[in-house]
Amino acid sequence: MHGQGVVKGYAIGKAAVMSAAALEVAHYRIAPDDAGAECDRLKNAIIIARDELQHMAATLPDDAPRELGPLLTVHSLLLDDPMLFQQTCELINERLYNAEWALTSQGQFLAEQFSLMEDEYLRERAADIRQVIERVLRVLSGSTALLSNLDVDAFNDPFIVVARDISPADMLRLRGGRFGGFLTDLGGPTSHTAIVARSMNVPAVVGLGHFRALIRDGDTLIVDGFSGAVLVNPSEQVLAEYRQRQADYAAERAELALLRDAPAMTLDGIAIKLEANIELPEEAIAAVEAGADGIGLFRSEFLFMGRADLPTEEEQYQAYASVVKTMGGRPVTIRTLDLGSDKTLDGDVTVATNPALGLRAIRYCLANPEIFATQLRALLRASLHGHVRILIPMISHMHEVHATRQAIESACRDLDERGVPYGRDYSLGAMVEIPAIAIAIEPFVESLDFLSIGTNDLIQYTLAIDRGDTDVADLYDPMHPAVLRLLAHTINAGERAGKPVAVCGEMAGDARVTKMLLGLGLTEFSMHPQQLLDVKKEVRQAHTNALRVKVASALNRAERIDLAALS
Ligand code: PEP
Ligand code: MG
Repeated sequence: MHGQGVVKGYAIGKAAVMSAAALEVAHYRIAPDDAGAECDRLKNAIIIARDELQHMAATLPDDAPRELGPLLTVHSLLLDDPMLFQQTCELINERLYNAEWALTSQGQFLAEQFSLMEDEYLRERAADIRQVIERVLRVLSGSTALLSNLDVDAFNDPFIVVARDISPADMLRLRGGRFGGFLTDLGGPTSHTAIVARSMNVPAVVGLGHFRALIRDGDTLIVDGFSGAVLVNPSEQVLAEYRQRQADYAAERAELALLRDAPAMTLDGIAIKLEANIELPEEAIAAVEAGADGIGLFRSEFLFMGRADLPTEEEQYQAYASVVKTMGGRPVTIRTLDLGSDKTLDGDVTVATNPALGLRAIRYCLANPEIFATQLRALLRASLHGHVRILIPMISHMHEVHATRQAIESACRDLDERGVPYGRDYSLGAMVEIPAIAIAIEPFVESLDFLSIGTNDLIQYTLAIDRGDTDVADLYDPMHPAVLRLLAHTINAGERAGKPVAVCGEMAGDARVTKMLLGLGLTEFSMHPQQLLDVKKEVRQAHTNALRVKVASALNRAERIDLAALS
């Protein structure tokens, strides 16, 4: 069977099939006189389920994945919503459904409403609705067992949980068990199963369709978290092959883990900075754990998305300051709001003719000075706690740099007037993601403190390929000589002026192109924390000066670079 692999790794073990109350509850009609009592039964079950979730959130063990607390709170809030009880009770009164039937119908209705939403984050909330309803159904049925009574000690291999979906609360209960993998019928890469499994580092495949119904407790399963394949009751030969893969992968990870504290230094003694990209403040912990030299890109727009209102100055300050404090003196690059194009505010229905070329990022911020000023004040306040590097996205003109500086000066004046303390030791840089500035980079290098190349957008604009359009995805080519020449030109300009230049697009975290980037002269890479050690390994095996000669000669001839020839 094939699903979507969301946590890499291999798992081999026996299936432990999780109960799915929503699929198993009885549906029957009640007598009109019993409707009141049925509503009470429902109300009690909702209260019990909510109290359980609140209790779990309040008494989380220290070693529980840190994502669980907020997720449990969201689930208890969903149960707190009086609409859930009222509308389900209406179904009981009007249609004389039993409580379980009414609740399943209401749950399906709500989940469908969410799955129709355009915003991916809100669509995924359909899963939260299903999960809290599953919990109430379990209370109604009086059965709290998640898994049938498998003898956990009877097997050498850990169990593989097979479920319709796994809620955060289920994850908490399963934690500590000998589970080697998670398989679910529902869910995508941002589902809770994926998030929590990732933080537990347990291979997981989601979106398997009707897999759960086909599997029996004790079936032997192989989970391939790379390809998303799941093999059921495989032959001895296949098992042996996967055991070998599992052992090789474990050895590779163990070898990489040793690199955490090793310097990112090339064979010819050039020190390379490896930083982390994050989207939420909590992810800074993963950056520290991976040994990152700093945060090279905090995509601040994620604080603004998936909500109806805008985050206040105080809320933003807390978020930025928490990252700065977590990084303990290492630099933190916070990108100002990059909205428009593929990322929009909730309820923003403006449809630009071509949003990727429209009012996005710095253009949006300069057109919405209040939103921009609030963010700048929060950034300046956060820079009191460490070194903040303010990064402006999508710069195409020098006057945008001047306007940003004026906006920062005005934010400083506002804070002075209010008597609010802030740090003055910040630096100001720009994303290089529009070909125009990569070509005419000199004035930008001169007037800014640093540059960061956003290859994701730079490639899209250079090759006129929409980065989100699957029909042209095969033409999205990071190795196109034109793209590489723009990178080289920007890096060289930075080098001449003594200003740092980083790459923070996906290319920076792709260990297959690390040597090529070193050959272009790059000394700062920013990537997802999980990619950092793979890249460090490449760095430590590279000889920059030899690579520079090879890469420069290919670029002069505008030839494609042969990656194999660089290793
Ligand atoms: C980029 O464009 O390369 C980049 C890092 O920014 P984003 O992916 O957020 O557009
Ligand atoms: Mg970008």
